[in-house]
Amino acid sequence: MSHAIKNRCLWVLIFVGSVGVSAAEYRGVAPIVVDAVRPLAAGPVEGLLGERLDLWREHRLWRVGRDPFLLDGFKSPPGKHPWQGEHVGKWLHAATLAYQATGDERIKVLLRETVDQLIDAQDTEGYLGTYAPQRRFYNPDDTLAKGSWDVWTHRYLIYGLLVYDRLFHDHRAVACCVRMGDLLMASFGPGKRDITSVGTRNGLSTVVLLESMVMLYERTGEERFLRFAENIVDCIERNPRLRLSAVMRDSADVSIPGDGKAYQLMATFLGYAELYRHTGEHEYLDPVLAGWDAIRERHLYETGGPWSFKSNDVRNHECFTPSYFYHPTNCVETCSTTTWIQLSLLLWRITGEARFAAEAERAIFNHLIGAQSPNGNDWAYFTMPNQPQRGYKDEVTCCASSGPRALEMIAQHLSGTSGRILIVNSYLSRTVPLAELTGREGELIVEGNYPFEEEVTLRADLAQPTRLTLDLNLPIGVKSMQIEVDGERQNLERRPSGYYRLARLWKPGDTVRITFEFLLSVHFHGSREGTRWMSFMRGPIVLAQDVAIQTDQPQVVLAVKNETEDASQWIEPADSRSLRSYKHLQPLLGKVPVYKIKGDRNIILIPYYLAGSFGGGVRTMFPTLHEDLSRLQDK
Ligand SMILES: [Zn+2]
Repeated sequence: MSHAIKNRCLWVLIFVGSVGVSAAEYRGVAPIVVDAVRPLAAGPVEGLLGERLDLWREHRLWRVGRDPFLLDGFKSPPGKHPWQGEHVGKWLHAATLAYQATGDERIKVLLRETVDQLIDAQDTEGYLGTYAPQRRFYNPDDTLAKGSWDVWTHRYLIYGLLVYDRLFHDHRAVACCVRMGDLLMASFGPGKRDITSVGTRNGLSTVVLLESMVMLYERTGEERFLRFAENIVDCIERNPRLRLSAVMRDSADVSIPGDGKAYQLMATFLGYAELYRHTGEHEYLDPVLAGWDAIRERHLYETGGPWSFKSNDVRNHECFTPSYFYHPTNCVETCSTTTWIQLSLLLWRITGEARFAAEAERAIFNHLIGAQSPNGNDWAYFTMPNQPQRGYKDEVTCCASSGPRALEMIAQHLSGTSGRILIVNSYLSRTVPLAELTGREGELIVEGNYPFEEEVTLRADLAQPTRLTLDLNLPIGVKSMQIEVDGERQNLERRPSGYYRLARLWKPGDTVRITFEFLLSVHFHGSREGTRWMSFMRGPIVLAQDVAIQTDQPQVVLAVKNETEDASQWIEPADSRSLRSYKHLQPLLGKVPVYKIKGDRNIILIPYYLAGSFGGGVRTMFPTLHEDLSRLQDK
């Protein structure tokens, strides 16, 4: 079939598929499964997350949004890079959420200009990618299919445009997505080519389309997109190298499907979870919960970053490998941290369980912002607990485009609701409006210096007494919370969801004082070369050594008698004397936790996210020598 005839056939197909519905008439459908909880919009976030959001919104957002690289590949294909097309979709997502939070009209203008140019670049048949015509996904030449990132690009475009439409109600954006969806369906829909025959890692890079396809169904209510989504799952489950549900059911080994490509596997879990919301079929949710648990148990650093490793089997730094490959120099791709956070927040909405929100917060406070340079512009691609250089770069990479999305997403999930209950996921300072919950004007004001100081207050700014129930999360690294209302200690019940419930009639000005018992904890891990490594946390914050060049100081080996959870036998708070020879660390004292390792070496520990950000590297894990072994060596 000639190219022209084929295109005409596709066009007819699309026309038939869309007949009778103009974009303005798409109604959309609500999920069958009602989310257990939902995020509640709050005022500006302050403190640590607020600073990091500002850095992205003031610098990176503009540097990428105004870079011609974002749209060049669409306007005059082929692009310069196989996945060049993903960046605009990711930018639309993050920048839309930034506008939603700030109302900054300049962002709105740039968003509109970007969307206009993107839509203009779409072919009449619906193609909106950066590939040359003969290499496009609808070309049935299998020799071109392997290694193609063309469908991947469309996944991110549909995602970004639909997030944009949620806020700006832009029917053109929806119509653009429908055209993409129909073209994809004409190629890979029921009865067509197996979608897993295209892309990398046995098609795992292509089936990430699943989430976007369910989103398109939700936005349009067009059943064919739901059927297409189900067909994508059928292809995954039929492919012996993917079989995501079967593998999660049998072994929950995330290193198996698609070689365990971490980012893509978690992005596919997002699609399964979305499909559950729209079908109510637990066969879609159960593998996601099993996969999340497996990653949480076996593939997460204390910093909350999901690690991967280039083993002899898969020869790629970005794949989950069995847990015995653990080592502090294994990679975390910033895209993986972002998708882990995204997955955790989605599972929080579906289940209402506190643990998902707590894990997302741990990853933000440590691993995610450790990948963001304090200059606001640069990001690191790979980060590790022990890394000679942070590797921040001013480049448009998959990771630099992913990281800001995680910042914006978590900012929307700090507070939530379930019925008339206010859920407090985080104690970062902010103002939470109460009118939607109580039917009366009022705010709950969260104040303090969390996660650095032990005490925060929740103050009710009300005009009249109001009944309000709070569900309070216990953050990771916190042993317990002492909760007082106007000086009176409360004994709160911990619910099956993991939240502590405080139900009361609030008088104007009532204040809840929460005192955290931050753990000063130590964590031990075996590793692939036999060494046992240890790292330290204070509350939710992982501590690490800032090193100019990691090889310039011999690495300290810590003697261990017993592996306890209490770090106080190895570290103690640092004072100004211990910082005498570290001028660049002196301003941190009193602002963030600063500790030192006991002994003569004067090794200073600061928050992981800051270590290395002064131009060097980071050392989070220390090798151990167990005392019985050290005695043997003395003899
Ligand atoms: Zn990446």
